[in-house]
Amino acid sequence: MSEEREAVLGPFAEVGSAGAPARLGIMGGTFDPIHFGHLACAQQALEAMQLDGVLFMPAGIPSFKRDRKVAPAADRVRWCRLAVAGNDRFAVSTLEVDRPGITYAVDTLSTLRTICPASVELYFILGADAALTLPRWYESQRLATLARFAVATRPGYPFSETDGRALEEQGFRLDPFRVTPLDISSSNLRARLAEGLSVRYLTPDPVAACLMDGLWYRKDGVAHDQ
Ligand code: ATP
Ligand code: MG
Repeated sequence: MSEEREAVLGPFAEVGSAGAPARLGIMGGTFDPIHFGHLACAQQALEAMQLDGVLFMPAGIPSFKRDRKVAPAADRVRWCRLAVAGNDRFAVSTLEVDRPGITYAVDTLSTLRTICPASVELYFILGADAALTLPRWYESQRLATLARFAVATRPGYPFSETDGRALEEQGFRLDPFRVTPLDISSSNLRARLAEGLSVRYLTPDPVAACLMDGLWYRKDGVAHDQ
């Protein structure tokens, strides 16, 4: 069990050991690619919910994005690792990308629930756009029992009190919190990369450099000048 805990939780393997109360954040996403919107969201969740750490959890085969080609999991994981390097409250887990088949949050959270001591409260962090879709997630009723849901503000996606109440009526325990509005999306980065434009200042420098070094998302197969 402790080996599995180490493999899945990395530096957070010891959270809640000896029954100490702890709070672990899980930042799920496709991260295709990761950007400052994700990082600011995780950082501000950490502060708002007083989390011990945030585990970035890149999706293997995301159930909502089967209609378009997603960058290979190994690359998305690598960009996430580059992005969180140097922050000891952030780590990347490959639990979802290592699991065969479509990724469902309910499976991820039930694995984490089994691995973590009962004294660890799990906080699934997600933006307002994603939160509004929760009732349509696979096994949403069971999902609601497995974690608290930290809902971040996101520009362009209003999340009203009525929206919150509707989710609570379905059993979701919510912690809405404000994030510095950053109108950045992976779609936006992909569109820039497709045109050969720079993604510097939209994602950490090592990620931007890696993205522009390669041919990911390029329409014409020509490398960037940086
Ligand atoms: P895409 O444009 O491909 O959908 P994305 O930028 O929405 O990419 P995802 O990987 O889909 O990124 O998002 C992962 C999680 O991060 C989601 O819960 C999403 O709401 C949240 N998120 C992404 N960007 C922001 C942002 N700028 N501010 C707050 N939350 C964000
Ligand atoms: Mg998205």
